[in-house]
Amino acid sequence: MNLHEYQAKELLHQFGVAVPAGIKATSQQEAIEAAKEIRHDGPWVVKAQVHAGGRGKAGGVKFVRTIQDVEAQAGRLLGSTLHTHQTGPEGVKVHALLIQDGVDIAKEYYLSCLVDRSKKRIILIGSSEGGMDIEEVAAKTPEKILTLVVDPIAGVQPYQARDMGFKMGMGKKEVDQFAKVLNGVYNLFVQKDCSMVEINPLIVTTDGQLMALDAKVSLDDNALYRHKDTAELRDPTQEDEREHIAHEIGLNYVALDGNIGCMVNGAGLAMATMDVCQLHGGEPANFLDVGGGATADRVARAFKLILSSSKVKAILVNIFGGIVRCDTIAEGIINAVKEVGLTLPVVVRLQGTNVEAGREMLAKSGMNIQAADDLTTAAKLAVAAAAK
Ligand code: GDP
Ligand code: MN
Repeated sequence: MNLHEYQAKELLHQFGVAVPAGIKATSQQEAIEAAKEIRHDGPWVVKAQVHAGGRGKAGGVKFVRTIQDVEAQAGRLLGSTLHTHQTGPEGVKVHALLIQDGVDIAKEYYLSCLVDRSKKRIILIGSSEGGMDIEEVAAKTPEKILTLVVDPIAGVQPYQARDMGFKMGMGKKEVDQFAKVLNGVYNLFVQKDCSMVEINPLIVTTDGQLMALDAKVSLDDNALYRHKDTAELRDPTQEDEREHIAHEIGLNYVALDGNIGCMVNGAGLAMATMDVCQLHGGEPANFLDVGGGATADRVARAFKLILSSSKVKAILVNIFGGIVRCDTIAEGIINAVKEVGLTLPVVVRLQGTNVEAGREMLAKSGMNIQAADDLTTAAKLAVAAAAK
């Protein structure tokens, strides 16, 4: 789950990392009041709050000097759709702004924290090349990317912070502040179960203060149950609508760009199903794992979720009935179709517990279903059906 910049900054502030004064605003009036509260006179920065980076280049971050410009930029951004290189062609809606103190930048750095799975450690990544696309820095000048591996028992050691800071080109005064920032970021990461904290840029102001000018925090969904405070920060307007509904029902659903709707039980089988579709020239419209303990009701909801996407041109159901029984799946599909109707071709591959009963129910339902015994045949049929 991703957080907005203003939420991420509140967390960083709680963990002792300095951030510029800023206030969230959801209307032009609020933006004006926020600006006046932050400082008498400009400059301010008006920042679109969306779950995507690259806002600066897309016109979502505006440096302004007058209240009139705060009002104008707020008016332009609120309710608009922002297209950045991270959003895809559909863009993201701007419902909120961060009005922030406009600070004077002396230098921009990059800092992030994430899990390095191969090292089985949390790492901190720093670079002197802040404010830029970090992927580009890594590709063109990999020597400018520094990594600090944190020992889970010892935490971030002062010598590690000094070493990284000096290598990033900081002076003594900055390095002392940098050690505090590293500890703050690391503690936030661990205590709030983050999957990523990124500060790009981490700046030094002209009066020598180290600050997080931008902030991105992603939380580990699997740990949200133990963080009521951060779980509440979810913003459904920034998420795929179907992913949000799926989350509410408790389904593992990820929206994709293709046109074959997939309904599968088990994450591994779902991945394999998508792979086999691709292998035969098809593009899945989604990843969907209905889970081991799926009831007919859950299957029906999952099926309706797939049908609700206009992109879907064919549906592939691939169920290996172990704990979930094939007749339950059939019942769910039939219930869903009774409710919302079905004009799309459906390919079903059922195997396992109560498979005969399941197949019979589907055959008698009068629906236009193509049955397949194995995954390859099923995938080929679905790809062909979607291409028609
Ligand atoms: P992003 O484009 O989505 O990563 O948004 P950022 O928050 O990183 O802002 C983009 C760029 O705007 C930054 O890299 C800065 O160069 C600039 N910027 C943002 N806030 C300020 C500010 O307070 N003062 C100045 N001088 N520049 C700013
Ligand atoms: Mn940024």
